[in-house]
Amino acid sequence: MNFKRCACFALTSGLAALTSCAQPARPESSPAPAREEIPGEGAVSIDALRADLSVFASDSFLGREAGTPNSVRAARFIAERLGELGLEPAGDTGYLQRVPLVRETLSASSNFRVTTGAGSTDLFLWNDLIPIPSLGPQIPLPRLSAEGDLLFAGYGDKLSRKTAAGKVVVVVNGGPASLDSVARAEAEAPDKIPERLGELIPLEPAAIIILLRESLFRDYSAKARDAAAIGEPTPAWNAAESARRSLPMILLGVAREGSALLPAGWNTSGRSASLAGRRFSGSAVLERIDVPAYNVVAILRGRDATRTGSFVAFGAHLDHVGVERGASGDSIANGADDDGSGSMALLSIARALSKRAAPKRSMLFVWHTAEEKGLWGSEYFTQHPTVPIDSIVAQLNADMIGRNAPDSLYLVGPSAAPNGQSRMLGAVVDSVNSKLRRPFSINREWDSPTHPEQIYFRSDHYSYAQRGIPIVFFTSGLHADYHKVSDEVSRIDFGKLARVAEFMMEAGVAVANRDARIGKR
Ligand SMILES: [Zn+2]
Repeated sequence: MNFKRCACFALTSGLAALTSCAQPARPESSPAPAREEIPGEGAVSIDALRADLSVFASDSFLGREAGTPNSVRAARFIAERLGELGLEPAGDTGYLQRVPLVRETLSASSNFRVTTGAGSTDLFLWNDLIPIPSLGPQIPLPRLSAEGDLLFAGYGDKLSRKTAAGKVVVVVNGGPASLDSVARAEAEAPDKIPERLGELIPLEPAAIIILLRESLFRDYSAKARDAAAIGEPTPAWNAAESARRSLPMILLGVAREGSALLPAGWNTSGRSASLAGRRFSGSAVLERIDVPAYNVVAILRGRDATRTGSFVAFGAHLDHVGVERGASGDSIANGADDDGSGSMALLSIARALSKRAAPKRSMLFVWHTAEEKGLWGSEYFTQHPTVPIDSIVAQLNADMIGRNAPDSLYLVGPSAAPNGQSRMLGAVVDSVNSKLRRPFSINREWDSPTHPEQIYFRSDHYSYAQRGIPIVFFTSGLHADYHKVSDEVSRIDFGKLARVAEFMMEAGVAVANRDARIGKR
């Protein structure tokens, strides 16, 4: 399950980004466990689940972060198991489907210049200016180059669209010396930056340069330089959209005496002065490096010749959040529950189904990458499916299914998905649950697009739902170890995990064996 998207907006690593604001769920009360069930023939093997997850969520995978070789190793682990089970490969190269990610870094060839009638002054990346190539997910991208007359807006003078449009607006993130120390600190605070951007962007300037006090600028510059050296992975299909950057170019600079971006004699009186006669031109150059990332895709063929080209899809995500930077002691987020549980449950379903008579329709298994980064693997798969997208009759997603009270389970989708498109699938799933030897007590609290936890939007089923495919999301819910280094194998309830896997498997078989394709409403 990935982070809850929220409206809070902050600068991280010197670059503006949406902050994540995951909140651990309230712990659940545990009802008395019912009688223990003994798995029968063709059922899910608890021992195999435990053996697989103990490897998949071990420290050797270093938290399986997408964009690192560790998630690639996780993909290969699953592909090897599928090979042993003899499932049909359905990626683009064997079981693997390459998901094109890139790292973007600011190149030293980025250049910035202020020209006057008398000559020009070059400004330098990291020392004088930091261009902001992205304000965070879901926000339109700022342009990477700009040219225009400089317009100085002091500490944030009110400007009209008429004066500011097409200009390069310079504003100082601070306040005049006449302010008391508290008000001054407030005016200089980093959280004023998004506020200032929010006021200036609608005026449609060519660029916005926000000048920070020297110490804050140096701090950002150092962090941004580190981040640029690593480069955050981003989907190549988004990077390709860079041509459609629609916001003004945005840069952070430094309010240094004598700067070509400040009026001559600018002091802290707070009075605006003119930069008339000066022009700015700048270009931030991004370098892109391919990053290997893979979904894993396999098929178990159905037995009915007329329906074998139609699929019930099972999904989980193979990536997790990696290593917690700066943590002392254990720093590896193993993601045993998130989503080691779902990933290994899918393997156990494939193993169990390969030992019994095939259902009428085929079963499609997709382990998605980069779910934690923003559902990128499932977004890519549903846009570049390796079977026709219309042949997927339903998708059952497993994300975090091995924790909390033994009989409790959340189902999400039947009500939350638009146009009632998952309602009929929900009814089939409920009917299967009622026939289990030990049915789950279903919690439907999260099955709403308006629930504050936004669970419906936070895992891979959402990508399928957006293509009109009926989905049900199975999860045992959040817990105090969510996205922490303590999400360990030792905390998994393997009995419950096996039962959820069996429930999903039986639900999938019920859908696959229906004569008529499951309706969308
Ligand atoms: Zn997660």
